[in-house]
Amino acid sequence: MVRPVAWMAWNRVAVALLIVAVVAGLTGLIAPSARSGAMVASLVFGIGGMGTWLRAQSLMGELERDSAALETRVEQLQGEVRRHRDALDDLAEGLEIGIFLVDQNLRVLYANSLACDLFQTVDPRGQTLLSVVFSNEVMEMLQKVVSDASPVSAEMTLRQPEERIVRLHAWQDSSNKDRYFLSIHDISDLRRLERVRRDFVANVSHELRTPMTTIRAMAETLEEGTEDEEFQRRYLGRIIKEVDRLTRITDDLLTLSIADSGNITKTDCNAAELVRSIVQQLMSKAEAKGLHLSYQGPDKLPMRANETQLSQIALNLVDNAINYTSEGSVVVRLEDGESEINLVVEDTGIGIGSEHLSRVFERFYRVDKGRSRASGGTGLGLSIVRHLVEGHGGRVSVQSELNKGSTFAVVLPKD
Ligand code: ADP
Repeated sequence: MVRPVAWMAWNRVAVALLIVAVVAGLTGLIAPSARSGAMVASLVFGIGGMGTWLRAQSLMGELERDSAALETRVEQLQGEVRRHRDALDDLAEGLEIGIFLVDQNLRVLYANSLACDLFQTVDPRGQTLLSVVFSNEVMEMLQKVVSDASPVSAEMTLRQPEERIVRLHAWQDSSNKDRYFLSIHDISDLRRLERVRRDFVANVSHELRTPMTTIRAMAETLEEGTEDEEFQRRYLGRIIKEVDRLTRITDDLLTLSIADSGNITKTDCNAAELVRSIVQQLMSKAEAKGLHLSYQGPDKLPMRANETQLSQIALNLVDNAINYTSEGSVVVRLEDGESEINLVVEDTGIGIGSEHLSRVFERFYRVDKGRSRASGGTGLGLSIVRHLVEGHGGRVSVQSELNKGSTFAVVLPKD
């Protein structure tokens, strides 16, 4: 590669030689006595000057070619830098964690879109981090990173703009020591699921332990031996009842876990036939309680659904309606919509207080534990209904008034 200094040196030498040649030429003209020597000198310096000038010109050409190549390379490098920056921007925008870049005064230099969403802000650049995250804990954490220059991680609960549990990590930018990164991972759902799972396991253990304790106590009594046949029959009857209860709980747990797995196989079926057959199946139970159970709806309602699960949905709702109604009626309505079907189960039973309404679909939630147990309930029926309905892409809702009755409504897509 030609260096401009070389070109300038050749150029200067050429000019100097040409000046000397001209001066020698002029001297030859002015002083006739030295003419021949001056002419020779002028010729020699002139030729040398021209040669040097030609060399300088060729260097100039090389220099221009080199600078054009250099410009192209610079443009290529700038393009690469732009592409790298765009890729980094895309990466930061696509991350499922919020990222802030702040200066040593903890002013925001950059925030990716998830960080903006988390704190419901549009463009926090230039603002202090405190005015964005509203948390002294976060600020203290970052101040520690600024003073110690070593990374810090923490899990904390942020209260603004809404309560959420987050995992934070803050570290110094290795390429610019005056800048610091803060990543925020919202783990509220994870923690909530962990709590639900913990509660669920605790609830299952509790639900299983109660009948097992009863069975053990009764079996021990029978083991001690008694001649009283009536006593034996009563105790064995109780044991069978408790075993049935255990079976119902494990069956319901199995149904729930299948519903949870989300694998639903739909086939063409006649929803009207399935619902009517459930009504038929529960007719004697309703009649035994003196209740009027009826079906209102078409004879045929073709749709795509999982037959077993659709029957289970209807069974749980109608069974509940009968269990929680002491007098009056239970009406099961099936309505055919354009793209959806509606299944409505209406009773004139005890109703549900408004403070319980939002919770009855939770696992093991029961308004009145004693009453639920007495009717053979496991506390899982409605959560199974919700899982199965949602698994079908539908929704379930309830309206109820204490001592007046309840209406459960299921909407399912036909396809
Ligand atoms: P359970 O096995 O106890 O019936 P579910 O999950 O089916 O459990 O229902 C949860 C709770 O919701 C019941 O314990 C009961 O308190 C209330 N519930 C459900 N259906 C009705 C209804 N039709 N009328 C009044 N209360 C109801």
